[in-house]
Order: sequence, then structure tokens, then C-alpha cells
Amino acid sequence: MAVKITSVKVICTAPEGINLVAVKVGTNQPGLYGLGCATFAYRHLTVQHLVEEYLEPLLVGRDAENIEELWQLMHQNAYWRNGPIENNAISGVDMALWDIKGKLANMPLYQLFGGKVREGVPVYRHVDGRDIEEICDNILRYQEMGIMHLRCQCGGYGGAPYGQTPKTAPEGARDGMYLDARRYVHDTVRLFEQIRARVGWEMQLIHDVHERIPPVDAIRLAKELEPFDLFYLEEPVPLEQINWLRNLRRQSSIPIAYGELFNNSREWKAVIAEQLIDYIRVHISQIGGITPARKLQIFAEQFGVRTAWHGPGDMSPIAHAANIHIDLAAPNFGVQEWSGIEPPNFVIQELKGPHGALLDVFPGLPEYRNGYVYANDKPGLGVDLNEAEAAKYPCEKTVTTWTQTRGRDGALVAP
Ligand code: MG
Repeated sequence: MAVKITSVKVICTAPEGINLVAVKVGTNQPGLYGLGCATFAYRHLTVQHLVEEYLEPLLVGRDAENIEELWQLMHQNAYWRNGPIENNAISGVDMALWDIKGKLANMPLYQLFGGKVREGVPVYRHVDGRDIEEICDNILRYQEMGIMHLRCQCGGYGGAPYGQTPKTAPEGARDGMYLDARRYVHDTVRLFEQIRARVGWEMQLIHDVHERIPPVDAIRLAKELEPFDLFYLEEPVPLEQINWLRNLRRQSSIPIAYGELFNNSREWKAVIAEQLIDYIRVHISQIGGITPARKLQIFAEQFGVRTAWHGPGDMSPIAHAANIHIDLAAPNFGVQEWSGIEPPNFVIQELKGPHGALLDVFPGLPEYRNGYVYANDKPGLGVDLNEAEAAKYPCEKTVTTWTQTRGRDGALVAP
């Protein structure tokens, strides 16, 4: 009997104060459903609306087993394609269909991707601090818990916290997170110099520029960081200035990770084919789910580019599980970001919500142990959703402010 889609529902929940969007696809088979991640934390209601008003009517009654057909159908349905709202909505359904496929096969998804090429997935965490001393203390604490890769920043992404307008800003300057690019480059180089001096050369270090400085300053930063043997430098130039990667490549041997803002294949084809980057780090729900991510991973493999999927706090455990299943089966895997999820008994930064709430809502989250993350062996993605628990943590409807990043003179720069 064909497996027919009978419902496509959205569950919004914020167990740790971050808006998460899950999609549940129901079928005509008793007890068979799939779960996917459609999280766009700052536009969650818009994604919910799209899924409920447009995708559910499009999909009900169709065969849940035809994942590729349904992905193309959703992608083409509105004529204008791509974009974060549309792609996150499609991802919610796409991951749920893969979850169903795994449950039908009675296999975890990594088996459907060809089986494991590694038993555990090495992950990186984030450290920052008020000063270099505190940053180094945090690095040593992570080293004790087995972490081998760390992203190190000077206080968030550098610069002043939101609302603390520096004296160097013009009169009447607007609120935002102010960043002086020249000082940032200087502080960041000094940070890595001190880290290597204090904690040695064992730890693999990462730094995220987060597109915030002019491209020419990013090139200078890359060159000055070379002696400190970074695992990679992330998002050194804004998406709108991506051609600067060619200049950067000519002038520095620092490994480059790029692409967490990418939406579609037009954006990644050239940078991978020209080998302008070393790690592709798209946000899987932002490109439309597992179906396009697997194609991208295999495409990148042909050019010697490795994966480092985006793994921030503002994505659900369902999406973290999708990352891990692809990582387990990918020969060209590099490293996996694992941020916002503290293993039990190892809380370094205060969680925003009640500890453990995330696991109550999403039982089955892949587990961190001693430097590696492991998927469970349940069929599909292996993560469930407790709707009664989810309902205890409603999403907040606010307009975010963290994206208001400003340069020294107060004009907005890429966040
Ligand atoms: Mg980043």
C-alpha cells in the first residue's frame, strides 16, 4: 500500500529561549510520521504560515516515498524560487520525508547514505570571554572535556555589546553593536598569539569574522593569523563581496570556511569549482534540507572541499541530527559546529532556559561524548518531539536587534 501524506503540521517551541520550528508529516500508515526542522528563528511565524497555508494543501494525498519529486514540486510551486523563508519551509518537509524513509527501511539515515565512514563526528564549540585570560581558561576547560576544535572570539564577534555606543561614534549615533575594524584585526591577532603562547599548539583553532569588516582588512587579518596555524578562518568577507575570495586566496594560505548564508546552488558552484574555499558550511535548513545538502556534499567531494555544516543554537535537535547523519557517511567531512548544546553536567555558559528542557522536548538528540558526537541507531533521524512538553515553551514574537552591527561611524555593516 502506498504511503500517503495525510497532514503537514508545524510545532513552534522555544525550550531554551530560542524560537525553533519543527514540521511533522503524518501518513496513512498507523503510527508512521516524520519530523523535520524549518527553523528561521527571527521569522518563525512566516515559515509556519507558508507550511500550513501552502505546503500542506500541496502535499496531502501525495506519495511520501517520492522525496526527490516532492522536493522539486515544493521548490517550483511558487514559480519564484529560493530564499530563506521558502527553503526553511521546504526543509521542514524534506527532513520529515527522509525521517519517514528511514523508518520504512528500519534504518538510521546514515545507512541510507552509504553507511558510516567514521564512528563519531568531531565537533567544535565556541569560546569567548571578557579578556584573554578568561578565554584561555575556557579553552583549557573544553580541552579537559575532550574537545579538539574550538572557535575563539574576543567577546561575541568583537566590538561593543548592543546599546553601548562608543565615544568615537558621531553625535546622535543610533543603537547597535559597534565594531572598529582596525582595532578588531589587532585584538584578534593578539588573541591568537596569546592563546598559542598559553595553551600550546594541540588545539585546532577556528575564528569567525562573520563578514563584519571590509574585505581588504580581512586579507590583512588572514595574513597576520597565518603563524598561529588556524584550522580555518570563517566567513572572512560579506556574501555581497564574494569575489574578494579570489584576492584572499592569492595572498594567504589560511584555510577558508564559507557559506552559512548561501541559499542555492548558484552561490556555491563557482567557489567550490574554483577551489576558493576549503570548507563549505551551509545551514542545511536554509538551503532546503537533506536532499540539496547531500547533493552539495557529493559535489564538494569532487573538488577536494570538505564540509563544516553550520550548527548554531538557533536550529532544532532535528537539524543537528540531520547534520550528524550526513557527517557520519561523508568522506569529505571536515568538522561539525556543535554550539548551544551543553552535555549534561558540563555547563560552561548559563543556558537561557531550564536545563534539560531541550531534551524533554526533543528526546533522541545526538550525544556528545569526549570530543565526538554520536547519532543513535533508531530508524530515520532518531529524534522525536514531545508535543505536550513543546507547548510549555511558547515562542517569543520579538524583532531581533543583534543584526544591527555598525562600523565606527555608525553606519550599518553586515551582521
Ligand atoms: Mg559563522
